[in-house]
Amino acid sequence: MDLMAMSLLERLPQAVRHEGGLSRRLFVAYGAALAALPALAARSSGTADSKISFAADPFQLGVASGDPDAHGVVLWTRLCPKPLEPGYGLTTEGIPVRWEVSETEAMSRIVQRGTTVALPQLGHSVHIEVGGLKPGRPYWYRFQAGGATSPIGRTRTLPDPESLPRELRFAFASCQHYEDGHYTAYERMAQDDPDLVFHLGDYIYEGPAKDNKVRRHTGPAKTRIRTLEDYRGRHALYRSDRHLQEMHRRCPWFVTWDDHEFDNNYAAGISEVSTVNPADFLIQRAAAYQAYYEAMPLRAASMPQGPNLHLYRKASFGRLAEFLVLDTRQYRTDQPNGDNNKPLNAAALDPRNSLLGADQRNWMDRSLIASQAHWNVLAQQVMMGLVAFPGTAKDPEPIYSMDQWPGAAHERMAIARFWADRRIPNPIVLTGDIHSNWVNDLRIDDRKPETPVVATEFVGTSITSGGNGKDNPEATAKLQAMNPCVRFFNRERGYVRCTVTPQSWRSDYVAVEDVSKPGGRTTVRQSFLVESGRPGAQAV
Ligand code: FE
Ligand code: CA
Repeated sequence: MDLMAMSLLERLPQAVRHEGGLSRRLFVAYGAALAALPALAARSSGTADSKISFAADPFQLGVASGDPDAHGVVLWTRLCPKPLEPGYGLTTEGIPVRWEVSETEAMSRIVQRGTTVALPQLGHSVHIEVGGLKPGRPYWYRFQAGGATSPIGRTRTLPDPESLPRELRFAFASCQHYEDGHYTAYERMAQDDPDLVFHLGDYIYEGPAKDNKVRRHTGPAKTRIRTLEDYRGRHALYRSDRHLQEMHRRCPWFVTWDDHEFDNNYAAGISEVSTVNPADFLIQRAAAYQAYYEAMPLRAASMPQGPNLHLYRKASFGRLAEFLVLDTRQYRTDQPNGDNNKPLNAAALDPRNSLLGADQRNWMDRSLIASQAHWNVLAQQVMMGLVAFPGTAKDPEPIYSMDQWPGAAHERMAIARFWADRRIPNPIVLTGDIHSNWVNDLRIDDRKPETPVVATEFVGTSITSGGNGKDNPEATAKLQAMNPCVRFFNRERGYVRCTVTPQSWRSDYVAVEDVSKPGGRTTVRQSFLVESGRPGAQAV
């Protein structure tokens, strides 16, 4: 281990803490030091392998893979012998970890192998960016540390970018509050055996333990999590769930976050609580983002730089589908009208409001124009449909969610206009956040049902958040009477399974009837089809 680098790295977090306020210089230095870690890990030896013995199996958080392209993928693990204990049963030394990739499940045809060091500065997480693989095929991988061997994970490269695959099968999920229920949805998803999973945010929740819940948060007893150690511990708790772990082991994931990975309804550097010191809030954001990076199979391009983490990115499934994975939290402007549900007034329609920020928006527009894909998908967080809810008896004007796209209605309509004007083939939006299922046919302005449909939005419900919900045809009818764009609404728990071919897009809404105990019954509640070249969802 490079001693100079080590001592610098160890001093920096301390220095940031002692600063008490935000020093841009320090953050830049800290970010740069973190960015140097992968190179450090690759050339340092850590403790001699033979001397390592773990208090328990160090692979209790499982293995994962993510962000595949046609020639590579990220392989992930995090050494954690005691997931629920402070210090996780590890010392503060780096630990050498060997990894290997095979063309066979029996690990009998190894195509690549190497050694890295799991560093305490990154929570003993390991991110291996493997390149040089063949497109469109499965691979298997495993890790070894000390005498311990991890489970064998299965991953998959994306098809050749020039090819037109016959079919893509994937699932998308969001909002998995640990205390609200069991991850039966992931147990069922594993049976579907999808090629990919997209997670659209609220992977963890930041609140303290509550009484009388199905399961219990660990961590601070009375306050939201706040420090790097708090966030690491929360991620360890969630990832110790065996169904979640198994789904990560089975196929690569593309993850993006919403608000609860850091703090409820935050907007860039602005807390929903007005008394929070902005400098403290950014330091907290750095902790949350670092723990998120450590917990997820992300590429080095997403290495946190102080309070910043580059998460928006794209994935091409050949010429069949292109996914733009968005980050609608880190760069957004503050929610207009003081957040919550408000009329779609001048403040909501202010063209300066943005959920994407200028850089991400430009990148998205350029990517859509350059795309060769049949289906052009935005994988993102909050609902795009400009959905009106009834106002109050005192003020009957319809109200809209200011935390969702109606809070940046001008930008939202500009995106739909862009799809239409540029004739972007088959735009599809995937959404999480609101713990309910929706299918919305999007127009440039959803308040004008006489105008043409340009895209379809599939909003997936929560895995557990909100606890058991139900199908409510009465509420659906009321919503639909106010909102011609809404084709489906349902409050059950579950996820969405998609089957994509050059001819059609099918979304199956999989519901879990009871998340309060393990093994709840699952069913496909409703399916919708979009035909290529014909905007609008049809119930099937
Ligand atoms: Fe949520
Ligand atoms: Ca959310």
